[in-house]
Amino acid sequence: MLSLIEKKQAGEKLNSDEILRFVRGVTKGSIPDYQISAFLMAIYFQGLARSETVALTNALLESSERLTYPKEFKPVLDKHSTGGVGDKTSLILVPLLSAAGFKVPKMSGRGLGHTGGTIDKLESIPGLRVELTRDELFNQLEDVGCAIVSQSEKLVPAEKKLYALRDATATVNSLPLIVSSILSKKIVGGADAVVIDVKCGLGAFFKTFGDATAFASEAQLVSEQFPIQLSSVITDMNQPLGRFVGNALEVKEVIDILERGDVESSVAHLVIHLGAEVIKLAGVMPEEEAKARLVELIENHMAEKKFYEMVEAQGGDLNAFTRQIDKIADMVDILDVTSPNAGCITQLNAFTVGQVVRNLGGGRAIMDAEINPWVGVELQKKVGDFVNAGDVLARMYVPKELTEEHLTEAILLLQSAYVVL
Ligand code: URA
Repeated sequence: MLSLIEKKQAGEKLNSDEILRFVRGVTKGSIPDYQISAFLMAIYFQGLARSETVALTNALLESSERLTYPKEFKPVLDKHSTGGVGDKTSLILVPLLSAAGFKVPKMSGRGLGHTGGTIDKLESIPGLRVELTRDELFNQLEDVGCAIVSQSEKLVPAEKKLYALRDATATVNSLPLIVSSILSKKIVGGADAVVIDVKCGLGAFFKTFGDATAFASEAQLVSEQFPIQLSSVITDMNQPLGRFVGNALEVKEVIDILERGDVESSVAHLVIHLGAEVIKLAGVMPEEEAKARLVELIENHMAEKKFYEMVEAQGGDLNAFTRQIDKIADMVDILDVTSPNAGCITQLNAFTVGQVVRNLGGGRAIMDAEINPWVGVELQKKVGDFVNAGDVLARMYVPKELTEEHLTEAILLLQSAYVVL
């Protein structure tokens, strides 16, 4: 392992056998975390050539069981995001596509860096299981039509390990690591067509349009080595998506959107756009027709019904969740953050909001740390809104045990996310 680290550190290219040996060692648990982390850091600084990214993706696949489906399941659809703040899109899009008649086996991850993760969000629902066996996942697809699961000891175990270590070692933001992380999960999931939501902006890993385009193009080129069709959509992540950031709060926002049959919010717009893109990619129907169908399925509450079915099939108790969220004030303190001056909000920095929520305990600073699902931020004002001095910008849901010092830090950090001119 030492010579592999040194080789990558020196910017040399690794061959596929070396990469395979590394991934096999990660899967077996024979490489200590500090050496895996050092290797990830070397990749972070030196990057990977395309052939190395393909080899890494292949090696991650080799560590895993792979899902295959009968003809009557096809086309199997999937989506993935490169990571954002307040991005609860998957929780609506997966059941929505399933309500449209598609099978959707989505493998998601936990929070990474300052971004939130679908798996952490789902786990705020009491009882919900995110690790399903291959048979359980298959049966759920047959009965319900969709599932959202995490990596596990059987499904891309090496990716699970690398993912958790990257989160705790500030090595998330590496283009080839993101490409192989996402593609390995999507290929193991067995989808025929996948839409990638490439987040771009202050709160994304790709800060500029150029970075986002470079990612989309690399993901496309690497994916061509595998039996999967990919389409990337570059979307805004300068300010957080929607009104809430935080695990349970985002699930609540999703339930509210589905209950209202809301197709007008920014979250619903993005969901419909991504959904139509992947249906078009699979060659099932043109984009405009797909959009109209998806709007109908949100408005007539079929997507909502499918969401409940999916949650129940995975053991989630939504009644218990609702009882808890209705009494959220018993679990966290809720306080207002106000604007120091009057003007128009010209920026609401998604990265800073993500940091606030992570610092409050909504994300991890060390591997496998417990997270607090109830903490978060409710954005009462967003870019383009006008405020007077003293108006509430946002509401923070903070742990009751937070010290005065940490509370003041959180308030100042959240205020600094807003630029009011
Ligand atoms: N999502 C993933 O699954 N992996 C990454 O590396 C980033 C976002």
